[in-house]
Amino acid sequence: MRMRKKKHGTQRLENCAEIIINSKEELLALPVSVEIGCGKGGFICELAKRNPDKNYIAIERVPDVALLAAEKALAAGITNVRFIVGDARILPEFFSKGDVERIYLNFSDPWPKKGHFKRRLTYRAFLDTYKSILCDEGSIIFKTDNRPLFDFSLEEFVFSGFELKGVTYDLHNSKLAENNIVTEYEANFSAKGFSINRVEAFLLKDASVTFRKAEPADLDAACKYFDMAREYMRTHGIDQWQDGYPQRELIAEDIEKGHAWVLTTKGNVVAFACLCFGNEPTYDIIEDGAWPDDLPYAAIHRIVVSPEHKGLGLAGRMVAEFKKICLENEVAVIRGDTHNDNRSMRRMFEKNGFTHCGTIHLANGDPRVAYYQKI
Ligand code: SAM
Repeated sequence: MRMRKKKHGTQRLENCAEIIINSKEELLALPVSVEIGCGKGGFICELAKRNPDKNYIAIERVPDVALLAAEKALAAGITNVRFIVGDARILPEFFSKGDVERIYLNFSDPWPKKGHFKRRLTYRAFLDTYKSILCDEGSIIFKTDNRPLFDFSLEEFVFSGFELKGVTYDLHNSKLAENNIVTEYEANFSAKGFSINRVEAFLLKDASVTFRKAEPADLDAACKYFDMAREYMRTHGIDQWQDGYPQRELIAEDIEKGHAWVLTTKGNVVAFACLCFGNEPTYDIIEDGAWPDDLPYAAIHRIVVSPEHKGLGLAGRMVAEFKKICLENEVAVIRGDTHNDNRSMRRMFEKNGFTHCGTIHLANGDPRVAYYQKI
């Protein structure tokens, strides 16, 4: 938040000393709920007023902004909030595992530039920090008007083992609107016509996504997702896999040969894909371009994600795991291909570091867009 330097800012902060804390010894009784990046404090003050029997901490890294929030709490006579002036990264200096019931992230800075994604407060490294202080089944409530940040955050939450509940892309027209406390930024953005996105991400013990080799017991789930993907492509006019590929026998063979992998959550398969080492004959000839090198490679084949878990970055997680396997096998290149019209798979390749290299042809002659990545 940009803020002109406050006149007598240091003095005004000192005047709020009784509710600004500098060490864990000054904390209110635990557990607490924490707002990160509280801005001028309208949200945390209202939340504390509505729940006088609960304790709250608000952290804000800009002192001239934090002082406005603290002055607001003092002026309203609120006794169950304390403020920390500092960066979210210092939270573990104040809290241990289990001390925090809920974290509120309201309209966090979006850091839209590609190279700045690690600064977003929902980036996985920040989520790891929050996990180190949240209690079991604790949650993070995240609101933003920024859809790209929201989509990024949903992926990061899932990657980090949170289960998503109450996802809405239009909070003010949802059933959650009734108890919603509108923040300063929220009022501003919704007045300008932006809809507000909101999610509650729960830290559930078994919600984390696990990667493992596929087993024969996974065959039914994988076949079901391939059937659903085929149907999706049929209804969207994508002429891929419409001949029944990949057949049950082929998937069973993938599993038996040990090159099929799955992602699971809560014990259920949510994604399936194959990583095949060795020469892929259909990649020998490439048109409209060239493979950048002749290095040994592994090929990604037959990747599918459960429809319920689409858009949560699971294919990207699979690619990340495949890269690790390649490196363990001293293979530095991954290749893959998809149908020209399969936009979501092409986006997946491009988003996860692959480069479009040209066109290959399947054994039956059908063209496919070819992708390459050097790890
Ligand atoms: N939450 C308020 C609202 O909804 O009106 C303010 C939103 S404002 C866009 C984001 C706030 O988060 C700013 O006041 C900024 O200084 C603070 N902030 C950003 N990164 C932070 C961090 N790493 N630690 C603590 N505060 C941070």
